[in-house]
Amino acid sequence: MSVEERELELQCPKCNQVASIKIPESVFSQKKFGSIKIQVPPGAVCPDHQFIVFLDPKGLIRGYEKIDIQMAAPKEEAIEDVGAEEISLNKAISFFGLYGFFSLFHAKLFGFKAYVLRDNISNQFSENVNKFFDETVQNKYTTPVQIEFLDEENLNKLKLKEKNSLLIDPHNNILQTPWDEKLEFEENSIKKALEIIDQEEQKVLINQDVSNFIRDVEQVVKIVEDVKEIYDTELIDQLSKDLKMPKISKNRLNVIREFIKLNISDSITKKIKNKVQEFLNFL
Ligand SMILES: [Zn+2]
Repeated sequence: MSVEERELELQCPKCNQVASIKIPESVFSQKKFGSIKIQVPPGAVCPDHQFIVFLDPKGLIRGYEKIDIQMAAPKEEAIEDVGAEEISLNKAISFFGLYGFFSLFHAKLFGFKAYVLRDNISNQFSENVNKFFDETVQNKYTTPVQIEFLDEENLNKLKLKEKNSLLIDPHNNILQTPWDEKLEFEENSIKKALEIIDQEEQKVLINQDVSNFIRDVEQVVKIVEDVKEIYDTELIDQLSKDLKMPKISKNRLNVIREFIKLNISDSITKKIKNKVQEFLNFL
């Protein structure tokens, strides 16, 4: 059976080389899960860079995001090789790709259900993958959610009630994500962890970053609970003063806000105001 494909012309956001890639038409017909992203590995468009392409539901390119971690493309044998043994950071990245890994990290941290389109996955492998992420992102706020492996047929049976989920098709490097935020936090954490060789230490380091993230979350909740409302810039100043650390970026605050909204309380996040947004609402 021939698979219908669509050709997309992509441009590397780093070196501007252009090349076409093919993606299956079914991605658009069965789309149920939020925004579509394509993970472009090194060698697909230009030799050295990997990046993410954002598509709208019709398949038009909405934008690109660079990934600043240099890593070889996953090799087929590495993927086939992932058997019953325990999962390490490097093995998980070989299997899911960097952005696939960041996305699973994000899904587990925020409590989104995740589906991976892949046949013939052993229960042991599935368990090991879940264990790896549960151990690294565990925190007391997120309800543990499973990463589930599915084949194409089961995917078609999924109903819309599951749409607030992450879907990864590792074979075609396609992701559908229920969020729009950049995965900067995840990328920075993984970048640091990859500089370490010891597998256990890598996990400890990622876990440390998650703990720091939760610490920021809790401090933001504390600050906001005591006020009627607060501007994001004031909140960033106050957080830096309270925790005696450099100011966080607005992007990080947005991620913290999203976490609080999903896992702690929506009404807290409503008190955080933004001057630009207020100005736009006023117009
Ligand atoms: Zn390039």
